[in-house]
Amino acid sequence: MEKEIKKTYLVKKLIDGVYGITSSGVVSFLVIGKEKACIVDTAYGFADLKAMVREITDLPLIVFNTHGHIDHTGGNFYFDTPVYIHEKDVELYKKHNEPAFHRYMENRLKIIDRIIFWRTLVPKHPEDTDEGRVNFSNWHFVKEGDRFDLGDLTAEVIEIPGHTQGSIAIYFPEKKLLITSDGANAATWLYLPESTDLSEYINSLHKLEKYDFNSILTGHSVKLFNRGDLENWIKVAEHPGLNHAKEVKGGDFAPGVKPLQVWAEDDVKHKGPSIVIDPEKIK
Ligand SMILES: [Zn+2]
Ligand SMILES: [Zn+2]
Repeated sequence: MEKEIKKTYLVKKLIDGVYGITSSGVVSFLVIGKEKACIVDTAYGFADLKAMVREITDLPLIVFNTHGHIDHTGGNFYFDTPVYIHEKDVELYKKHNEPAFHRYMENRLKIIDRIIFWRTLVPKHPEDTDEGRVNFSNWHFVKEGDRFDLGDLTAEVIEIPGHTQGSIAIYFPEKKLLITSDGANAATWLYLPESTDLSEYINSLHKLEKYDFNSILTGHSVKLFNRGDLENWIKVAEHPGLNHAKEVKGGDFAPGVKPLQVWAEDDVKHKGPSIVIDPEKIK
């Protein structure tokens, strides 16, 4: 395998048959069944993700996108199989995978690379694959309750609107595992134009609560979260401490929005999880 690919992706086994493949601060998850394996999210696609996956498994692959953002869909084109995504995030997907938007993100990350010089977010020679990137036909749409048989393992789709309208989680009942990615995590971004209002996000979290799981994996960390963490995420969303919130930069992703990072009402020292919201959306 090319050196550049190995340098781009960092592979870590998280639980039996589940790998986190980290690149540029984003995690793609590889979950392996007896007959098929699935990739949940494909990161930016700066280097051949499929080649990396093929170092771990030879099984036929299914690709899921938890939502349309570029840091979770940019590597779709490396896979020749259709990609499973929620229809509500398709426009977002198209916008984020236009070559101009991709170049823009690449340059933003290069600037961060220069500041945080001990970490590399963009490989020295990111593959220029604009043509493949704009193949907007290779989709299958998924909805609540869709199930995929991977052999001795099931992957089930759960709709969790909040971060984006078409956000989904993937549930693996046999492993008691939920992959929520950006849709539910320790600092969920809800301030984007494509985000829902807070109450819809709260509904999504309560829906997740009903599943029989032990672990949760999110989109920008290989940490295994648990049911207690989900309870804390619900607490922040239901009891946001607006009087001790912090203004943060929304930037180009949400022009005109002044996002607030909010911790739970009783978490005045900001030790626990937070959410980032558009204050206009909760009034
Ligand atoms: Zn996202
Ligand atoms: Zn993300």
